Amino acid sequence: MNQNQTMLQGFEWDLAPDGHHWTRLSKEARHLSHLGFTSIWLPPAGKASNGSTDVGYAIYDPYDLGEFDQKGSIRTKYGTAKEYKEAVRKLRTLGIAPLADMVMNHRMGADASETVVCREVNTENRNEVSETAVSKELYTRFTYPGRKGKYSKATLDHTCFTGADYFDDTGYHLYLLDGKTYASDVDHEKGNFDYLMGLDLDVLNPDVKKELIRLGLFYIKKVGISGFRLDAVKHISAQFMREWIQALRGATDKELFTVGEYWSYNLDSLNWYIGETQGEIALFDVPLHQRFFDISRDNDGNYDMGAMFNNTLVACNEPLAVTFVDNHDTQPGQALQSFVEAWFKPIAYAVVLLRGRGLPCVFWADLYGHATGAFKPVRDLPLLLKVRKHLAYGDLYDYFDHDSIVGFTRGGIKEKRNSGLAFLCSNRGDGEKRMYVGNQWAGKTFLCLRGGFKSVKIDSEGCGIFHVSHRNYSLYAPLSLRSLFARFFS
Ligand code: CA
Repeated sequence: MNQNQTMLQGFEWDLAPDGHHWTRLSKEARHLSHLGFTSIWLPPAGKASNGSTDVGYAIYDPYDLGEFDQKGSIRTKYGTAKEYKEAVRKLRTLGIAPLADMVMNHRMGADASETVVCREVNTENRNEVSETAVSKELYTRFTYPGRKGKYSKATLDHTCFTGADYFDDTGYHLYLLDGKTYASDVDHEKGNFDYLMGLDLDVLNPDVKKELIRLGLFYIKKVGISGFRLDAVKHISAQFMREWIQALRGATDKELFTVGEYWSYNLDSLNWYIGETQGEIALFDVPLHQRFFDISRDNDGNYDMGAMFNNTLVACNEPLAVTFVDNHDTQPGQALQSFVEAWFKPIAYAVVLLRGRGLPCVFWADLYGHATGAFKPVRDLPLLLKVRKHLAYGDLYDYFDHDSIVGFTRGGIKEKRNSGLAFLCSNRGDGEKRMYVGNQWAGKTFLCLRGGFKSVKIDSEGCGIFHVSHRNYSLYAPLSLRSLFARFFS
């Protein structure tokens, strides 16, 4: 029996642009393995439009991993190509699969302009395209003068893009390039959400498609990446994305775990995407994140805790759900800010880490704290991670049967000695709940791992009465004090 799989989002938005992050990850790799991480989502590694300070999503040259003097520096925000590859190698050595963040929707920071025929698009309804063609001088030419054709000879021009935006005295304009159409199998917000930002890559152009497959193979073969996190997939043809990952799996005969960022609170949209991509791509459980956020913001505790998993991906399509509490987009100051309140964070993490449904992804800033100290690490995370690694195994018994006090238990497995646990949380009031942990525990004792409550004796029916306090959680496991100390505090 392998240990539970756990993913780390290995960065946050506001990391210092000091060029030291790849070496930081190399240094932390052993500690991360000890905590039980088995995969890590690395930030976008290519050279982006703002060079050494760019988080990476304004991608300019995805082959420049900090190797060429482009956009004002050789290194990226995170370091050099050599340091990136060394971090990947070190993580793999320690059993942590490195996942590359692939930004394939758009490009930014072109090298030169071209005169392009295009038509203006209504920004709020992209199906409304002006009939009048205009000529515009647009920055659509990418020649990568610093890289000089190394790794790929392909350059890009306006034929590689469907759309562009343009600012002038009259404001913000969106243009559809002549002869192009938006992909139809994308999110339907704003009529058609193919266009997000920058220059929208025309992934249906056979040359572009071939080039993006070459790019994926470069990350696998030249860098050593084990899988992918796909950026902004709701803006990219679903069929293209499916064919892209299938081509890479076919060419490498590797599993290539892949999770897409489809940012939608609507479960129907996520399910639609999973259908279109034939289950080849897991998705982040955005509805569950939103639920955590809503519960945490409800100071009166009126939110129905029994409904925690209603209309979430993990409840309806568990094998393809990557659960998370927060990420670089939901953190304070970012576009999708919806940061789960501090009191509820440990509860949300306990739920995703210990319940054994979906693949949990832990956010860097929740583990290490925010770069400038704007928010602190979630103090309980190391304990919860170790409980996941050592104890969170076996049958699941859910008790989401009350509007404020809910919980679950795990029965444990023989292969993991003393595994099994009981979890209870409350968004309003102190309380208790009788929960079944398994007949095999009859007569045994469950210790309260966080302190505050007495140990619980399991009765002859395999049940115990567990306690929790107001806006808090409790965690019990069949451990002695001696083994508790050895496992979690040494
Ligand atoms: Ca697009």
